[in-house]
Amino acid sequence: MTEKHHIALMPSPGMGHLIPLIELAKQLVLRHEFSVTFIVPTVSPVPKALKTLLENLPQGMDYLLLPPVHFEEGVRSENQIVLTIIRSLSSIRDVLMSLVAKTRLTALIVDLFGIDAFDIAKEFNIPSYIYFLCTAMSLSLIFYMPKLDQMVSCEFRDNPEPIKIPGFRYPVHGKDLPEPIQNRSSDIYKVFLKHPERYRLADGLLINTFVDLEPEAIKSLQGGHDHQPGLPPIYPIGPLVQDGSSGGADGSECIKWLDDQARDSVLYVSFGSGGTLSQPQLIELALGLELSEQKFIWVLKSPDDKSARASFFSAQSNRDPFGFLPTGFLERTKERGLVISSWAPQIEILSHGSTGGFLTHCGWNSTLESVVNGVPLIAWPLFAEQRTNAVVLTDDLKVALRPQDNENGVVGREEIVKVVKGLMGGEEGDVIRDRMKLLKESAAKALSEDGTSTKAISELVVKLKNQ
Ligand code: UDP
Repeated sequence: MTEKHHIALMPSPGMGHLIPLIELAKQLVLRHEFSVTFIVPTVSPVPKALKTLLENLPQGMDYLLLPPVHFEEGVRSENQIVLTIIRSLSSIRDVLMSLVAKTRLTALIVDLFGIDAFDIAKEFNIPSYIYFLCTAMSLSLIFYMPKLDQMVSCEFRDNPEPIKIPGFRYPVHGKDLPEPIQNRSSDIYKVFLKHPERYRLADGLLINTFVDLEPEAIKSLQGGHDHQPGLPPIYPIGPLVQDGSSGGADGSECIKWLDDQARDSVLYVSFGSGGTLSQPQLIELALGLELSEQKFIWVLKSPDDKSARASFFSAQSNRDPFGFLPTGFLERTKERGLVISSWAPQIEILSHGSTGGFLTHCGWNSTLESVVNGVPLIAWPLFAEQRTNAVVLTDDLKVALRPQDNENGVVGREEIVKVVKGLMGGEEGDVIRDRMKLLKESAAKALSEDGTSTKAISELVVKLKNQ
């Protein structure tokens, strides 16, 4: 048996879950002398970007892909995430058993959907932790769910008054609460209602955020707010974001193109690993970008009129996306724009001096990556908790502009021109950019030698090594 403390990390399906777990693992392995194994539940077919990331893990990190789970038609993707874990439990048990035999297994760390594996960890007497990959506010909301469920009788979006939630600086409109809790008769709503009970079983809750970003929410969680007594210890350890190549995307063409552009002149447009637009929306975005006359890089996915997360499991387009663009678009914009299919080297793009703005779906990893690089945002939320993030980024932190959709739920080309010009050209954009630069500094401070997140990681390490 090896002497090093060993950690098992289990990401639920989705690149946005694996990437931050890898960054956490890097902290543990490269700075604190742990070794780790990723236990990776998968859905068939296994995405190429996921395999590439795993095949390129640094030394000290191992991985095991669990047998892919197959789904019958019609299972909603948010349910698929939870079901993938449930249907993988027996393989998870086998892997944990062999790790217990072979290594000095110290803990199991799962993300927000991995909590069904806690019972198995308990069987082997392994402490379990959750790495919560969204805001501290979202975690506070999760613990508040049972109370909220009692207090509000209609669908949240129909609640006439904004709702006060512990840790939220302002009351929030029900329509801006996360999408999975918007249908109270759905299976996923029931899952969220049960989360607090399961989350309380964790030995610790790690959050990819930092104190200066969400002071109220972190205080509320750490202080065991009136509504949330007896929570496990909270570790705000972020922002931990990718620092290297992103899932095997070949960045050379893109970076070469960026090298030739002026400072802060390029708008990066991406809806994350899984976000998809409807066909009419894709056309409006294309024409809006064209009319704005702004330089841009657009990570294009084929549209889907039924689901805003149609590429969530594959992280790539189901069909050739270029055929869905307006006729002649690529030719007309070839001097100003670069359109990439499916997967881009996001970190390299965001950290490049020519990138001056990010039109984002407000996924939490993308948001933090923008903060770390000081890139201001256009907030265009699609699903999950992205609407809540968008409200915080726009109204509270004021580091984003948010386009309004029309009566058909589509953001029109003129509106797109307005926000693109507002962010990239106008005085308002300069003010937003300056605020984002301040956030960038406080993020760096949190991770400096004496920073709050560095201290939280050290406390966590002490606990992991001494339990
Ligand atoms: N990402 C990337 N290239 C892409 C799209 C996404 O490298 O073309 C990375 C991005 O940098 C981030 C993650 O994938 O680390 C997406 O996570 P996020 O939470 O932003 O959104 P999700 O994909 O989970 O909706």
